[in-house]
Amino acid sequence: VCHIEVDHVSVVFGTGTQQVTALSDVSFHIGSNEFVSLLGPSGCGKSTLLRLVADLLQPTSGSVRIAGDEPEKARLQRQFGIVFQTPALFDWRTVRHNVELPLELLGTSKKECKRMSAELLELVGLTRFADHYPWQLSGGMQQRVSIARALALDPPLLLMDEPFSALDEFTKEKLQLELLDIKRSTGKTFLFVTHSIPEAVFLSDRIIVLSAHPGQVHSIHHVELPSE
Ligand code: ADP
Ligand code: ADP
Repeated sequence: VCHIEVDHVSVVFGTGTQQVTALSDVSFHIGSNEFVSLLGPSGCGKSTLLRLVADLLQPTSGSVRIAGDEPEKARLQRQFGIVFQTPALFDWRTVRHNVELPLELLGTSKKECKRMSAELLELVGLTRFADHYPWQLSGGMQQRVSIARALALDPPLLLMDEPFSALDEFTKEKLQLELLDIKRSTGKTFLFVTHSIPEAVFLSDRIIVLSAHPGQVHSIHHVELPSE
């Protein structure tokens, strides 16, 4: 279970005349096992919001609270439970060792790391490529490695920042269906950043639209989708 509470959050980058307001007084709530898409035009603050929730960035004011995490693992779970637009893999580590990295950081035994990475690579269909290096794989396969690594600590919350933008339509659709399967079978909460309306509609239970008005005022509209 995992709830996210974003409460009157503002983020300002830089100082003086160089100041950029990335987010201004944003509030919303996301419940357990919800698949929520964060939609909006380029530059409206979607990535900034995701980084706040991942605990990779502190708000200038307001608060981000995540309830339902296990306290000890929580920070690593949040920081690693994220998939970026460009797969951020370690090129000198094999596919398997990329997936095992967050587990190693938690002090998981070698044997257990191996067992879990095998299971995760099976889930994303990359068993045959466990001992390859990232640069030997196609873009779609690298993105699947990122997803496997994000799942390694079994985070209650999976964060994704336009994970499909570099992929062809065919690979994209395959991965989207895999994510919906993971949601169904694990009960995880998903927060998904996209600027694609069809993608948001296809994947989400709910869409939060972040709009950038002149004067850097941002607003959020909740769009509830009819359930199947
Ligand atoms: P989106 O993901 O919706 O495209 P971002 O969250 O990346 O939007 O950016 C929101 C605004 O904040 C943009 O104006 C961007 O230029 C600015 N911004 C984002 N990160 C930084 C940073 N580290 N330093 C300065 N400005 C930033
Ligand atoms: P793409 O991202 O190019 O659509 P997929 O992730 O859908 O690729 O993989 C399709 C199949 O193509 C893989 O299962 C694999 O067998 C093969 N393949 C793709 N790229 C490579 C590569 N660099 N080396 C070996 N096989 C590859």
